[in-house]
Amino acid sequence: MALIIKNTLTQSFETFKPINPPFVGLYSCGPTVYNIPHIGNYRAYLFIDLLKRYLIYKGYEVKHVMNITDIDDKTIKASIEQGISLSKLTERYTKDFYNDLNILNIIPASLYTKATDYIKEMLELIEILIEKGYAYKTEDKSIYFDISKDPEYGKLSHFKLADLKQDASGRMQNDEYDKENANDFALWKAYNEEDGAVFWEPSEILGKKSIISKGRPGWHIECSTMSQKNLGESFDIHTGGVDNIFPHHENEIAQSECATGKPFAKYFIHNDHLLVDNKKMSKSLGNFYTLLDLVEKGIDPIAFRLWLYNSNYTNKANFTLESVRGTQIALEKLRDLYLNFGQEKGQINGEYKKSFIEALDNNFDTSKAMALIWQLVKDPEIQPADKKATLLNFDQVLGLGLDKIVKEIIPENIIRIAEDREQSRRNKEWQKSDQIREKLKDLGYEIKDEESGYKISKI
Ligand code: AMP
Ligand code: ZN
Repeated sequence: MALIIKNTLTQSFETFKPINPPFVGLYSCGPTVYNIPHIGNYRAYLFIDLLKRYLIYKGYEVKHVMNITDIDDKTIKASIEQGISLSKLTERYTKDFYNDLNILNIIPASLYTKATDYIKEMLELIEILIEKGYAYKTEDKSIYFDISKDPEYGKLSHFKLADLKQDASGRMQNDEYDKENANDFALWKAYNEEDGAVFWEPSEILGKKSIISKGRPGWHIECSTMSQKNLGESFDIHTGGVDNIFPHHENEIAQSECATGKPFAKYFIHNDHLLVDNKKMSKSLGNFYTLLDLVEKGIDPIAFRLWLYNSNYTNKANFTLESVRGTQIALEKLRDLYLNFGQEKGQINGEYKKSFIEALDNNFDTSKAMALIWQLVKDPEIQPADKKATLLNFDQVLGLGLDKIVKEIIPENIIRIAEDREQSRRNKEWQKSDQIREKLKDLGYEIKDEESGYKISKI
C-alpha cells in the first residue's frame, strides 16, 4: 500500500515515491524565534510529526531538518524593542520551543539548524546567483533576485507573472507580502542603522573580496541554504503552513533551482490554518492561544493534538475551547480503557492494522483512523491484551503517548473512604458527601464525579 499525499507543486494527490528509498529527506520551515508560538503554529509542527512518524512506521529512514530562524526583520525588531541582544532573545525562545515540542510529544528533528550558523553558505549561494545573472546589486548595496529571469517563477503558487502584472521590475524589501505584489526580492539586505549590532562582513567571512556588502540575509535564502546543505540539492519533502507557499517557498524554489539547475524539493506539503471564529489564528489579529493558555484553562496539550485529528491537515480547523474540552473527555476515556486492558501485551490485530494503514495512506485520513480506534476498543471479539498491543502500535503514529501512561495505585483505605462517599451521594446526604470529599483532599486525593461513576486521583 502506498501513501497518497497532496503535493502543492502539482496541486494533485500523488503516490509518495522518495528519490532514494528507503531514505527520505524532509525539510520543515521552523519557528522564527522572536516570541512564543501560538497553537496555530503548533498545528504545523504536529502535522509534520504525524507525517514523519508515519513515514518511519512504513519503514522509511527519515532525515528531518528543521530551521530555527534566528535572524530576520522580526527578530531584530523584537531584540531592539526589548533592549537585549539578538542571541539572548532567540536563545530564550528556542529553548521554549523545544520545551513545547516535548510537551506535545513531538519527536525532535534529526537536526535543528540555526540560520546564523549558515551565513557563509548563504553568501556562497548568493554569489552563484550573481555570477549566473539571476541577482543584482542595488544603489543601497542590497542584493536582489531578479524574478523576470526565472521563467518558472510562480510554479508553486500557480500563477504566471505575465498574468499578474505588466511590470515586475519593482523591488520588495519586506520578507512577507502578497503575490499581487510579486517583485524582485532581497537575498541580502544592506546594513542600515535600524539593524543595530546585527550585521556580517561578507569579504571577511568568505576570506576573499566579495561584491556583497556589509549586511544580513533575507529570510528566503536561509531555508534554501540550510535545506540543500543538509539534505542535498534535490530532496524529498518540504513542509510548512499554507501561508508559507507565497512568497517564502516560491522564492526558495526560484533561488535554489536557478543556482543548481536541479529540481529542489520533490513534494511540497502544506497544512491549512487553525482558525478562531473563522479567521486565521495569528499574533497580528490577537486571536491566539499559546500552549500555556491551554494548560491554564485545564486543557491537556495532548487533547489538542488529538482534537486536530478530527480534521484533515489540508482543511481549515476552527478552534473552540468547548470542542477541545470534549476531546479531552474522549482522551481520558481512551487512557482509562487502555489501562484497563491490563499489563499483558498480546498480538497486533492484522485486520485493524490494515484498515488503519488504508486510512492514513489516504492523504492522512486521521478522523477515520480515530474512528477505527474507537471501534477497536469496543470490539467484543478482541482480547484486551491484543487491543493493547494494537493501540500501542497505532500510537507510534498518533503520538498520544499511551505508552507513558501509568496506572495510579490508590490505597485500599482511600478506596473505602471514596466508597463511603459514593454511598452517601446515593442516599442524597450531600453534606456528608462534601465532608468526605474534604477529608480525601486532606489525605492528598481528589475525587471527580462522572457519568460512569466517581474517579479518584492523587492531587
Ligand atoms: P512562523 O513562526 O510565523 O514562521 O510560523 C511557523 C509555522 O506555523 C509556519 O509553517 C506557518 O505556516 C505556520 N502557521 C502560522 N500560523 C498558522 C495557523 N494559524 N494555522 C496553522 N499553521 C500556522
Ligand atoms: Zn523556511
